[in-house]
Amino acid sequence: MVRVRFAPSPTGGLHIGGVRTAYYNKLFAEKHGGTFILRIEDTDQKRFVAESEGYIKATFAWLGIMPDEGPDHGGAYGPYRQSERKAIYKQYVEELVAKGKAYYAFDSVASLEKMRTSQQALGVKAPKYNAVTRMRMENAFTLSKEEVARRIGAGVPYVVRLLVDYQQTVRFKDEVRGWVQVSGAELDDKVLLKEDGMPTYHLANVVDDHLMEISHVIRGEEWLPSMPIHSLLYDAFGWTSPVFAHLPLLLRADGKGKLSKRAAVATGIPIFPLNWDDPQTKTHFQGFREAGYLPDALLNFIALLGWHPRGHQELFYEKGSLAKAFSLDKINKAGVQFDVGKAQWFNQQYLKKLSPATLAKDYLVPRLAEEGITVSNAFAMQVCALVQERIVFPQDLWVQHTYLFRAPASYSMDKLAKKWSALVAEVLRKVQVALKEADVFEAALIGPMVKTLIRAQGAKLGAIIPFLRMAVTGTDRGPELFAIMALLGKKEVMNRLGKFLMASHDR
Ligand code: GLU
Repeated sequence: MVRVRFAPSPTGGLHIGGVRTAYYNKLFAEKHGGTFILRIEDTDQKRFVAESEGYIKATFAWLGIMPDEGPDHGGAYGPYRQSERKAIYKQYVEELVAKGKAYYAFDSVASLEKMRTSQQALGVKAPKYNAVTRMRMENAFTLSKEEVARRIGAGVPYVVRLLVDYQQTVRFKDEVRGWVQVSGAELDDKVLLKEDGMPTYHLANVVDDHLMEISHVIRGEEWLPSMPIHSLLYDAFGWTSPVFAHLPLLLRADGKGKLSKRAAVATGIPIFPLNWDDPQTKTHFQGFREAGYLPDALLNFIALLGWHPRGHQELFYEKGSLAKAFSLDKINKAGVQFDVGKAQWFNQQYLKKLSPATLAKDYLVPRLAEEGITVSNAFAMQVCALVQERIVFPQDLWVQHTYLFRAPASYSMDKLAKKWSALVAEVLRKVQVALKEADVFEAALIGPMVKTLIRAQGAKLGAIIPFLRMAVTGTDRGPELFAIMALLGKKEVMNRLGKFLMASHDR
């Protein structure tokens, strides 16, 4: 039975890398008819950010990555919260102490620091609390049993540490990287239970994965260094460990290191799924949603960040098709460049798949309403059909095509100005007259008519049409001009052309 979990620490907004981890877990559960769980690992009170959990849930709701199990919150499941399970971890850590696999330690911050500096003075680069130093510290090995019991009874603060055998070799298998081997001498006697009675990440993570019967742990590569400790914990408890798969790092598009918040913002790409106002730094980050990404397009994009299907399929429009194709053995080892251009490409493809009616109803009409513009549904749909192929984001319907709803207030003539001449003005006037006389204002009729007329004047189409476009739209690019004109209708086109020609006296 496949049971997977996404286990974020609520320390801030959920980074797009976290969304990928969550989604891979969801896809894997879906593929195997398994269960996906959300577990909030909130045992680090110093780094706790209250807004974080709500943000994760809102992200999941937007993307449809819903937990299949968990405490019932009025119809929606989850999450499990580690802070609510404190008593459980204590009980398990005591079991390890009783088995001699973990021990109490009473060292103050100052004496830990002293140990580190004296080790460093001896040339040890990364001093550890281990077989070398353990016997010089204040713990169950250096204090008598009675003294340990007395201190605990008297409420002296303590931690519980994992006892690591330095002679042991820890071996574990990662589905992505194969067998990994680490010498016990490289490991620390990691703290399992902190002074505040809270478990550390390592303890709570392992205990919960066991109790929640997690079959596969799919998480980011940054957790690979924790694996030996987790592996030792499973052994110490006598539990079978789940299958592990560590996902490759997300890298900056320029290949220069990890995709960090700072690097993303500097290059103007979103890194958070939804808008995120960081309560600590008071920084605002625009989300993928607010930037105009469609949830399915974003999911398709992130699915391919570190995983590749068999064959060359990139677009997985059909619901459930990604889950069907997904498998752990096609996850890459190497870090993946985060190319926002590719994300935009996916968005464009998904936008093209929407019907003009949906685009009009869900995006264009509401946006126009914000601008105080009302149009008929039929008109909105025609606009969407005309420009759909060209847009990358839904807001482009309005932002790049405002002229379809409002006459241009100015003309971006920079490139064209040099080509303006008395001849151009004269031909445009003839076009104006001809258009005025057109009874049927359809692209298929006015197009050939205008073109024939231009040629008959001995002018080149390329010398005149750009000005006609400028007159009608205020810009030098856009969809097929005569289709735009037909959509705007004769009266509006005549007004715009007239206005343009009037203004041309100043040219
Ligand atoms: N709490 C860890 C995190 O913040 C979870 C790592 C794991 O999935 O084991 O990502």
